[in-house]
Amino acid sequence: QAQQAVTAILSVYDKTGLVDLARGLASKGVRLLGSGGTAKLVRESGIEIGDVSDITKAPEMLGGRVKTLHPAVHGGILAQMSKSSDAQDLSAQGYSPISIVVCNLYPFEETIAKPDVSIAGAVEEVDIGGVTLLRAAAKNHERVYVLSDPKDYGSFLSSFGKEDEEAKKLRNTLALKAFTATASYDRAISDYFRKQYSSGDQGTPNSSGTAQQITLRYGANPHQKPAQAFVEKGELPIKALSGSPGYINLLDSLNAWALVKELAEATGLPAAASFKHVSPAGAAIGVPLSEVEAKACFVDDLGELSPLASAYARARGADRMSSFGDVIGLSHECDAQTARIIGREVSDAVIAPSFTPEALQVLQKKKAGKYCVIQVNAEFEPDSVESRQVYGITLQQRRNDIKIVPQLFENLVSENKTVTEQAKLDMIVATLALKYTQSNSVCYALNGQVIGLGAGQQSRIHCTRLAGSKADNWWLRQHPRVLALPFKKGTKRPEKSNAIDLFVEGALEDEDFKDSQERKEWENAFEQVPHALTKEERKEHAKKLKGVVCSSDAFFPFPDKSLHSVHRAARSGTSYIAAPGGSVMDDACVEAANGHGIVVARTNLRLFHH
Ligand code: 5GP
Repeated sequence: QAQQAVTAILSVYDKTGLVDLARGLASKGVRLLGSGGTAKLVRESGIEIGDVSDITKAPEMLGGRVKTLHPAVHGGILAQMSKSSDAQDLSAQGYSPISIVVCNLYPFEETIAKPDVSIAGAVEEVDIGGVTLLRAAAKNHERVYVLSDPKDYGSFLSSFGKEDEEAKKLRNTLALKAFTATASYDRAISDYFRKQYSSGDQGTPNSSGTAQQITLRYGANPHQKPAQAFVEKGELPIKALSGSPGYINLLDSLNAWALVKELAEATGLPAAASFKHVSPAGAAIGVPLSEVEAKACFVDDLGELSPLASAYARARGADRMSSFGDVIGLSHECDAQTARIIGREVSDAVIAPSFTPEALQVLQKKKAGKYCVIQVNAEFEPDSVESRQVYGITLQQRRNDIKIVPQLFENLVSENKTVTEQAKLDMIVATLALKYTQSNSVCYALNGQVIGLGAGQQSRIHCTRLAGSKADNWWLRQHPRVLALPFKKGTKRPEKSNAIDLFVEGALEDEDFKDSQERKEWENAFEQVPHALTKEERKEHAKKLKGVVCSSDAFFPFPDKSLHSVHRAARSGTSYIAAPGGSVMDDACVEAANGHGIVVARTNLRLFHH
């Protein structure tokens, strides 16, 4: 092809570098065609340029809405000149191929960022022809250069004219850039119109009755504004029936929902979880509570509990200190009894597939109507790929959609291979809890519930210790002397939880506690001040904790620490360990477990969560 046959279309909103580019192209004999404003500026600079209408034989119309949308333009860009039929099509219409497209788009994002923008004003900034130019040129990058960014003009000019590998590479890179530019442009447009037409925010006109987006007060911290939650397909599967959830509320509730949904599916029993800071403080299935458990969970005044209420009572009772101000996940319709338990605890939000009218009434009264009641669509299936951004970089992965099923725990590698039916359930409870716990994590479970969970520790042994001490604390809270603590009438539940925690943690044995203000406050909660648990009482009681499952989200890795982990677990009543293998210490760990008569199920499944 002769040089003079090369045609470039120029249509830019941002006219930075335009004149230099036009001059450079003209000096290389390229025929220039421009849309209205672009051609005017180039011409005024003394460079020869034609109008797009020279080839379309149609004027720009509708106040600029139609400038370059014409087969003379798009035929010229999209024709594959190596195909004889394409070349014939062009010549039949008297069109010429176009080999360079220079285009950038109307400033949609800048326009909608203005405080007083109207929908009509935003609509006018939706670029149509420019996006079409960019997409068409990028599509035909085998032959066409597409310049969507003034920063690329210089390097393009210096390499233009040669037809070699470098030229091909440049066309590829420019095409990718153009595709990315139109994609982010369209994302900004859909984000704007989602907020206008499909927002669940109160007071927003929502023509279709469905919502894809809600505005959040702020992100993780009050200074992180704006913040929102949205889906790009279908409807948002969550709806606030009361209160307005914050960013961390959603992190907690969506993880809590995923956990209880899977827990119920895997065990066939209603499930509940109590989340704090994106890890469960407790999680449980609807196993009926013994009298002692009911007392330790502060629900002994309620008589027989529904399976869902039992699940929440257990989840909340696992670690009452951590559960203060929790976000609750419920696998089944929230009944009145469960709502009443929630109603009297300090809590931030609850997510469930539905609420009975009575339950909703109880919950909507909480926190003077500010308590977050979130209804989730149980049918919703998340995409199999999930993305997030960290420091401006998008990370993408397949969602952790592995199912935690009973078969996962059938590979028994210890001498003892006897697993009770309850332990089978508890392995699922402990391991599923880990699937939704910040790593590293170790979880102890018993009687269908988490009894101790160590989350987010950099060292696995710290998780094992933390989870172990929580399990020990949980167990001590069922000591007859704790259950009989003589609280003054009217002592609030959180005060009781704190007082019990200090008692079982051994504060009374601590010299510093003796004459402290804290001790005076602590004593104030009681009719008669209780005396400390003796070492013997503690030991006697600890011995009775048996049948505990200990699950780990990854193998116990370090030679010295892994064995320590097994011994530590044994001290908290562990009879079963569920963990993936893969460590050089696997055999030594199993041997250590054998020494305690512990059953070891090797899962071969790592469950890190972040
Ligand atoms: P100019 O300043 O040359 O008049 O207009 C340049 C702008 O118009 C560019 O941002 C380009 O993306 C846009 N544009 C080009 N063709 C069309 C069209 O046919 N319709 C619309 N709405 N915009 C176009």
